[in-house]
Amino acid sequence: MKDVQLRNIALMCICFVMLVTGAGLLIDEKSDNRVEANERKDSEDGWFAAEISQSGRVVVTVANDDPRIGPQIPVTDQAVNVDEQVTEDVTEPYIMINEGNAIIDNDRWRELRGDYSGVAQLIIPPLSDGEEIAIEDDYMNKSLKIMIDNCSDGDFDIGQFQRIAGNIYFIGDVIPEIAGDAVKKVKVVSKDSDVYEGRFRKEITVKFDHIYAYRLHQYADACVVDCSNPHDVYDCIMVVDPGHGGIDVGCNSTGGKCLEKDIAINIAKKLKEKLDKTSIKVYYTRLGDDSLALRERVGLANDLNADMLISLHCNFYERYWVPGVNGVETLYSSVNKEKRIASKKLATDMLDGIVDTTGMRRRNVVNRKKDLYILRNSEVPATIIEMGYLSDKNDLKMLTNKKKIKKMVNGLYNGIIKAYYNMYGKVIE
Ligand SMILES: [Zn+2]
Repeated sequence: MKDVQLRNIALMCICFVMLVTGAGLLIDEKSDNRVEANERKDSEDGWFAAEISQSGRVVVTVANDDPRIGPQIPVTDQAVNVDEQVTEDVTEPYIMINEGNAIIDNDRWRELRGDYSGVAQLIIPPLSDGEEIAIEDDYMNKSLKIMIDNCSDGDFDIGQFQRIAGNIYFIGDVIPEIAGDAVKKVKVVSKDSDVYEGRFRKEITVKFDHIYAYRLHQYADACVVDCSNPHDVYDCIMVVDPGHGGIDVGCNSTGGKCLEKDIAINIAKKLKEKLDKTSIKVYYTRLGDDSLALRERVGLANDLNADMLISLHCNFYERYWVPGVNGVETLYSSVNKEKRIASKKLATDMLDGIVDTTGMRRRNVVNRKKDLYILRNSEVPATIIEMGYLSDKNDLKMLTNKKKIKKMVNGLYNGIIKAYYNMYGKVIE
C-alpha cells in the first residue's frame, strides 16, 4: 500500500469519527425533549401560528397583545425554556396558555396526529352534556360545515377553534398567508337552538382551498375532524352532473309539460339510490333545483380529479312533427389529447349500457371537439349523455313514466359499471 493510499484511509477514518460524533450530538439534542421553542409568525390582524417541533414539548409563542392570552407578560421571539414546574402544570387536555405560550403536550400531539397523513386537522373543544355535533360537506363551495347543537352562548367561538396543517398550528379566524394551510376562512354563526330554549346552535363554516374528505372523531377531550385528499379515502370517485337547473330549464317536451332540468334531477336522484349502495364515492353538482355555471360543474370534476364526469341531458328535435327522430346519443371531446381515448371509451360504454338495458334506439358516440364547454374544459374523462328526445313520444315515456325510468336508471348504472371495468379494470360492488 502506498503512502498516499494510507493517508487517504487515515483521512477517511477521521471523517468517520467526526460524523459519528456529530450525529451523537444531534441525537443528544433531540433526546433532550424538555422543550422546543419555535419561530413565531403573526400579523397585525391578530392571528398567530408557529412551527411545530418534531420532538419534545411544543411551545407556540403568541402575540403579547393577543386578548385571548390573559396576563400581559412580555414574550420574545427567542427559544423559550419552560421550567419543570411549568411542564408539570400542563394538565389541561391538549393546550394551555401560560405566560404567553401555548403549550401542547407531546403525548397529546401524537395522539391527535396518530398515523394521520391528511392535509389538516381541525380541533374542536369537547362537547358538554346535551351538545350534539354533526358535519356536512358543502363540496360545491369547498366548505365544511360543523354544526353544534344545544350549546351555551360563549361556547365554540372562533378563539376556541384550532387547526393543524402539516406541522403548523393555528388558532383564530383570519387567513394566515402561510404555505401549507388548506384553510382559507373560518366563520362562526350563532343561532337559537331549535330544541332547547336559551341554548344555541353554532355553525362553523370552514372554507378550504380544495375539496377534501372529512372524517369526524369524538374523543373525551376533543372533537377532531381529519381532512384528507378524497383519493386517500375513496378508491373510486366520480361526478354526476344533472344538466341545467334553476332558471335554466333546458328543453321542453312538445306542449311544454316536461322540462329537461326536472327529468335530469329526477333520474339523477334515482341513480343515486343505486350508486349509494356501491363503493363509488359520487359527487353531484346538484341535487336540488340550483342554477349552476358550467364552470362550477366541470370545476367539481377537475378539483376532485374524478375518475369520470357524466352529464345528464335530453334532446329535442325542432321539427317534432316529423316522426322517427329519437334515441340515445353520447357526446365527448377529442380536444384534450390525454383524455380523448378515455372519454370516447366512457361515452361508448354509457351508450351501450343504456341501449342494451332500455332497448332504445342507438344513435351515435359524437365527437363535439371544441363546442361544448364542459367537455372542452374537463381534465377528466367526460361525456354528455343525451338520454332521449323530449319531442318523441316513446323517448319521453322512457324519461317520465315511473316504471320506465327504472330502465333508464339501470342503463346508466350498467354503463358506469362497464366504464369502471373497461377504463380502470375495476369491478364495482
Ligand atoms: Zn341539456
